[in-house]
Amino acid sequence: MQSKLTTYDRFDVLVVGSGPAGASAARAAAAAGASVLMIDRRRRVGEPVQCAEYIPRMLAAQVQIPEAAVVQEVVSLVTFLPDGEVVRKSAPGFMLDRARFDQGLAAAAAESGAHVWLETQALARRADRVLLRRRGQNLQVQVEVIVGADGPRSTVGTWIGQCNPRFVVGVQETVLLQEPLQDTEVYLGSRTPGGYAWLFPKGDRAHVGVGIQPALNGALKPALARFKRDLGARIGPVVARAGGLIPVGGPLKVFDEAARVLLVGDAAGQTHAITGGGIPQAVICGAMAGEAAAAAAGGDAGAFARYETQWHRAFGAVLEKAVRKREEMESQWYSGDLSQLLRRCWIACREYHHAA
Ligand SMILES: Cc1cc2nc3c(=O)[nH]c(=O)nc-3n(C[C@H](O)[C@H](O)[C@H](O)COP(=O)(O)OP(=O)(O)OC[C@H]3O[C@@H](n4cnc5c(N)ncnc54)[C@H](O)[C@@H]3O)c2cc1C
Repeated sequence: MQSKLTTYDRFDVLVVGSGPAGASAARAAAAAGASVLMIDRRRRVGEPVQCAEYIPRMLAAQVQIPEAAVVQEVVSLVTFLPDGEVVRKSAPGFMLDRARFDQGLAAAAAESGAHVWLETQALARRADRVLLRRRGQNLQVQVEVIVGADGPRSTVGTWIGQCNPRFVVGVQETVLLQEPLQDTEVYLGSRTPGGYAWLFPKGDRAHVGVGIQPALNGALKPALARFKRDLGARIGPVVARAGGLIPVGGPLKVFDEAARVLLVGDAAGQTHAITGGGIPQAVICGAMAGEAAAAAAGGDAGAFARYETQWHRAFGAVLEKAVRKREEMESQWYSGDLSQLLRRCWIACREYHHAA
C-alpha cells in the first residue's frame, strides 16, 4: 500500500549519507549558516563498520578526532612482496574505532545546527524535491542544493549520471591478536589479484582482510583462508566480520550546477585507487563540499566550480597517479615479473600515507 506523502519544510542543503564525507559536509554547511538536513538509511551512524580503520596521523591536524575513537597508534607500513622482499616505510597514523569516529563527526554536525535523520533513505528526485523513505513512511523535502555523500554506489550520483565504474571487493575478519603490533602490514601477491591482504592491529585485536579486483578472477574466501593460515599463531579466533566495495576507477565529475548537486567521498570516487584509503579525502573534501553547498544555496553561482578546483588542488594529483598505477597494475597482472610490477605500482604510491 502506498503510504501518504508528507512534505516537510524546505532546507538549503540536503546531505545524503552520514559517513565521514556527509558529516563533514553537513557540519561545514551548517557552520556557514545554511539550514541543513543530513540523512542516512542506517539505524545508527557508522554501524556496521565496513573499514580497516587506519588513518594517517596528519588528519588529526585537520579534524578533531575524539580521544575515544583512537584505539592505538601505528608507526610504519610494512609491505611484503611476492619475491620475499619486505619494505618498511614510515606511515604514522591511528587505528580508529570507526563507529565512534563517524558518530563524533555526526555529533559535531548536529552541534553546528544540522538536522540528522537516521533510517531515512533518499529514493528519487523531482525538480527541487527529494523523495525520502523514513521508517516506513514516504515523504519529500524541498531543497536548494544536494550533497551526495552516499558511498560507493551513490544514489545521488545516478541522478547526475556519475557512477563509480570499477571496484575492489574486500572481506575482513576481526580476530584476537596474540602479540601487540605497532605497524600495519600489507601482503601483495598472486592470491589477491589487483588487490592485497592486510593485517592491521587494533589493540588486542586485528583486522585481517583481503581485497581483489573481480575482473582479474581472484577468489575472496580462499584467499582470506590461506592468508589466515599463513599468519598462523599470530592471530586467534574471529570476533567480527565485515566487507564492502572500494571504488578504484578514480574521481568522477563532482558537480552538476544545473541539477544543483555536489558529490563527495566514495560517491565522488575520491578514494585512493591503490591503497583503497578514503577517510582523509572524505573528511577534508566533505568540508569543502559543505561550504560550497551553503554558498551555492545562498546564490553564489561560482561555488560549484570552486569546489571542484579546491578539492582537486588538495588531492587531484595523488588520486590521478593512483588511477594510472592501477591501470598499469591490472593490465600487466598476469604478464611478467609480478614483484617488479608491484614495486612500480604499489610501492611507488606509498607517498599517499604521508600526503593524504
Ligand atoms: C573493507 C574496507 C576497508 C577499508 N579500510 C580503510 C582504511 O583502513 N582507511 C581508509 O582511509 N579507508 C578505508 N576504506 C575506505 C573508507 O571506508 C571509505 O573511503 C570511507 O568510508 C568513505 O566515506 P564516505 O562518507 O564517502 O562514505 P561511507 O562511509 O560509505 O558513507 C556513506 C553513507 O551513506 C549512506 N547511504 C547510502 N545510500 C543512501 C541513501 N540512498 N539514502 C541515505 N543514506 C544512504 C550509507 O548508509 C552510509 O552510511 C575501506 C573500505 C573498505 C570497504
